[in-house]
Amino acid sequence: MNTAYLGLGSNLGNRLAFLRGGRDMLIKQAGIELIQTSGVYETEAIGGPPDNPLFLNAVLQIQTSFDPHRLLEACLEVENEFGRSRPMRWAPRTLDIDILFFNDQVLYEDHLTVPHPRLQERAFVLAPLLEIAPGLKHPQLDQTIADLAAVCANIAELVPLRTTW
Ligand code: ATP
Ligand code: CA
Ligand code: CA
Repeated sequence: MNTAYLGLGSNLGNRLAFLRGGRDMLIKQAGIELIQTSGVYETEAIGGPPDNPLFLNAVLQIQTSFDPHRLLEACLEVENEFGRSRPMRWAPRTLDIDILFFNDQVLYEDHLTVPHPRLQERAFVLAPLLEIAPGLKHPQLDQTIADLAAVCANIAELVPLRTTW
């Protein structure tokens, strides 16, 4: 069994429904079990068009029998089920699912980089991760999520919505 952390994001349409639907479709699969769920955070879009709508973001901890490639495939399939399209980089999206960590593996491949290469810059990833995995160590940076969060700009402004999901 493998432990992975997935970052979910939506900034188009019924964002909470897309996060819920994505989570449920992932964990319905025989090779994926949900271990922990962060709260949901509303965050400003970084990159993309200037009028990019606000995101909802959350992080899941899962256990999976899938290898990283099969897990990526599962994430992309679920995104597609919820109508994800990619007209340009960082375009608004119904559902985005990124693999943040996969055990303590480090992968640099054409279609898969793990840990996610931009997670340490992103308050919208670190805030939900801090909730469920403060002691998790980044295998390349040799710092914990709490360490990374402590030096991440704007993270203090992010508080989870008062909604269960
Ligand atoms: P960002 O990666 O900066 O968050 P994005 O999520 O908008 O941007 P996408 O268009 O969703 O980018 O993904 C493009 C491709 O990135 C995917 O098709 C996938 O092959 C690749 N990719 C590489 N590493 C990862 C990862 N750790 N998790 C998810 N996708 C990844
Ligand atoms: Ca992403
Ligand atoms: Ca993505």
